[in-house]
Amino acid sequence: MRAFESIHFTATTPGPRLIVTGAVHGNETCGTVAIRRVLDDIAHDRLAICAGEVTFVPVANPLAYERRQREGERNLNRKLSPTPQPREFEDHVANWLCPLLARHEVLLDLHSFHTPGEPFVMVGPEDNADTLEPFTHAAREEALARCLGVRRIVDGWLGTYAAGVQRRIAAHAGDANRPLDLDPDYGVGTTEYMRRVGGWAFTLECGQHDDPRAPEVAYRAIFSTLAHLRLIDAPPPRPATDIEALHLFEVVDKAHAGDRFSREWASFDAVRAGDLIGTRHDGTPVRSHTDGRIVFPNPTATAGQEWFYLARPHGRFAS
Ligand SMILES: [Zn+2]
Repeated sequence: MRAFESIHFTATTPGPRLIVTGAVHGNETCGTVAIRRVLDDIAHDRLAICAGEVTFVPVANPLAYERRQREGERNLNRKLSPTPQPREFEDHVANWLCPLLARHEVLLDLHSFHTPGEPFVMVGPEDNADTLEPFTHAAREEALARCLGVRRIVDGWLGTYAAGVQRRIAAHAGDANRPLDLDPDYGVGTTEYMRRVGGWAFTLECGQHDDPRAPEVAYRAIFSTLAHLRLIDAPPPRPATDIEALHLFEVVDKAHAGDRFSREWASFDAVRAGDLIGTRHDGTPVRSHTDGRIVFPNPTATAGQEWFYLARPHGRFAS
């Protein structure tokens, strides 16, 4: 097993502390390719870190990366936190990665996705003082999210996830064989952890796993982030003006292995109120209650796991 690797640069001029991660999911390698390209640019003086600090993690999960699969022994991007007694491989990753994240202010976490579609970025909540995900850096995330080279910005992940967990807890009350993922913190991945320790963060979904454009999307986003934060001497990127802001608001679980989608959904396909999304194994129709988008549809989900999410337009990035 390869040792965990991070490459760190500190400039003499103070500035923001950025960390860029790739391959949190081992089969999502666009970030790894892009980070190595940036490191090569720096090594050959095509790029110079002139302020602040930046840490690059080309491969956050080396076991999953080596196996070319999403997870090593479990999903690193769920219930992420240090643990005193590491059991699974990802526990060891967490014990190394979490303190590393905590030493930075900004995280750019580079991912890719399974089905065809355009790149998008996931951001944290608006500023709030609630218990689930209190936050004070929304304006910073909003300003940089507009400059990452994508048009679609999605929020609402942790709140939607926690509401889904509450529903599952109610559904399994008194059940001796309760599923394991009933912890509201199960939705905590790299970006949620970063916000918990006082930072701000982005999950950039750069395209389909094998799309040759995905590493370019990731590379441009790293460059734009460095320029926006003034860590390199380059003109700040121009914010996008054609933003499509979406708010995740519901997760629907697969209840039975026989639950079926009504068609082959792609992420961000539009749904209208009343549209048939799928059918439960007993014939009960599953319809959308509202106009919006279907997100992360997973036809191969197992019973009790997330089947699909719903998102609706959000006025947050209206300019
Ligand atoms: Zn991923």
